[in-house]
Amino acid sequence: MHAVRSRWIGALLAVTGLIAPPADASPRTYIKSICWSPEILEADLLKSFMLPVGCELIDCCPGCPASDALDWRIRIAGKSVEAATLSFEGLADPAALKVEGAAALVPDGVVLKRGSSRVLNLTLPEAGRAPVAGLQLRLDPDFPGYAAGVGRRDENLDLVEVSIEQMLGSVAVNEFLLRYQLKSCGVPEPCDVVKLQDNQGADNAVVLLDGRDGADACENDGIRRGVDSTLVGSVKTQGACSSSIVGVFSRDNAMAMLEDPPWTDPCGDEVVATLGPAWDMPVNLWLGKSVFLPDPGPLATQDLLTANALYDENKAGIAFVEKQRKQLPTDPITLAKVAFACQGLGGLESAGLYVKDQLNVYYGLVTVTGQSCDDRNMVLIGPAAYDTTLAHELGHALSLHGGEKDWGHSNQVPDMTSANIMWVGDSQAREHFSLGQAFRFNVNKLSMLNQDGPRQGPERECPPKPPSTAPEPDFECPGLALDWSRP
Ligand SMILES: [Zn+2]
Repeated sequence: MHAVRSRWIGALLAVTGLIAPPADASPRTYIKSICWSPEILEADLLKSFMLPVGCELIDCCPGCPASDALDWRIRIAGKSVEAATLSFEGLADPAALKVEGAAALVPDGVVLKRGSSRVLNLTLPEAGRAPVAGLQLRLDPDFPGYAAGVGRRDENLDLVEVSIEQMLGSVAVNEFLLRYQLKSCGVPEPCDVVKLQDNQGADNAVVLLDGRDGADACENDGIRRGVDSTLVGSVKTQGACSSSIVGVFSRDNAMAMLEDPPWTDPCGDEVVATLGPAWDMPVNLWLGKSVFLPDPGPLATQDLLTANALYDENKAGIAFVEKQRKQLPTDPITLAKVAFACQGLGGLESAGLYVKDQLNVYYGLVTVTGQSCDDRNMVLIGPAAYDTTLAHELGHALSLHGGEKDWGHSNQVPDMTSANIMWVGDSQAREHFSLGQAFRFNVNKLSMLNQDGPRQGPERECPPKPPSTAPEPDFECPGLALDWSRP
């Protein structure tokens, strides 16, 4: 499922300009919100952050002095953290590692205590992929916040910060700031309920909530879980709050979206969300043979299966249904039409090689990995595509795209990792859509799900990027990285 089809993808992405621009001077900040329960002491926080050693993008530090080793300056703060471990993969000479300060070498990496430390001599290989580091937090079981784990929901208990400066000589080439917000898991008080009707497969659904709560505060992007009757605490009439919605995401069902649900001020409300089958999106497959890809048929089948599995696992509520598959003629004129398809010069429709108001996916040597055209109903898949490239390009079609150079990619979006399907420039396993992304697929005006007509329902305009300045709570659009805890 996560096999990479080609090893030359990195170099090709660099020349085709499909990767994100270089990092700017401010550190990349990733925020992870964790609710504190006994389980998280055992939780695999390692997967949260995989960090590239050096620049993760080719030529991200033009003019930097040539060197074959980096030093990391690390600072760890937070009352609840006991230690962090760093394990490295792909260093040229792991035995050359040295540490200073609050750090100690262990057989498979480095253990860092709170405070400042340095990890020296991170050796880079001459060629091939950049090494990566996995960061795992170890939380203190005696942290007093633990007792508060049963307290008020979402109460802030602690903030753990890990900052990492990657130094090439005296030049900082890459900086990260990882923030773990520890909150109380709590339980909503029994009061009002969202009832899910026709929940296929009795999935543990995700209920997204905006509204006025029992304390007259406007709740924004609240998340509850439930199979049938989901406790939501006290929710009142909309009042002065700018948004009151119930959104329901579950496997095998279309997203349900209720605007201004019939809440009343006293407890005892039951708002019913009736779930229907996932939205079907027809897909036309146009298969072009090339020397690099003599038979794209099996790949197209596999890519569609993978895309459907990923959209379903992430509760997006959309099913891509193969409408037809046809071999593209191999004559030069047709090949040229496909090659220029994204420029709108192809004349594919008149040639009977395009279906209006449906998704059209073209396989062949027309791009390197994949491309989504300005006509979002057109997707090109190239011979060096990953198995998740189709799922990625369909994410663009479903509104994760914007203006110039704003492709809806998740790189540099706080709290998103390379596991996200919209992440580019990294061959790691991509398997994740956030709830904020799934919301946009369904509700955004520009999503082909709405433009092409399969879905009828409330629409909004939510850009695929978070605001660049410190955001006020956005009641119209959930945060792009808003998510639910798997499973
Ligand atoms: Zn993309």
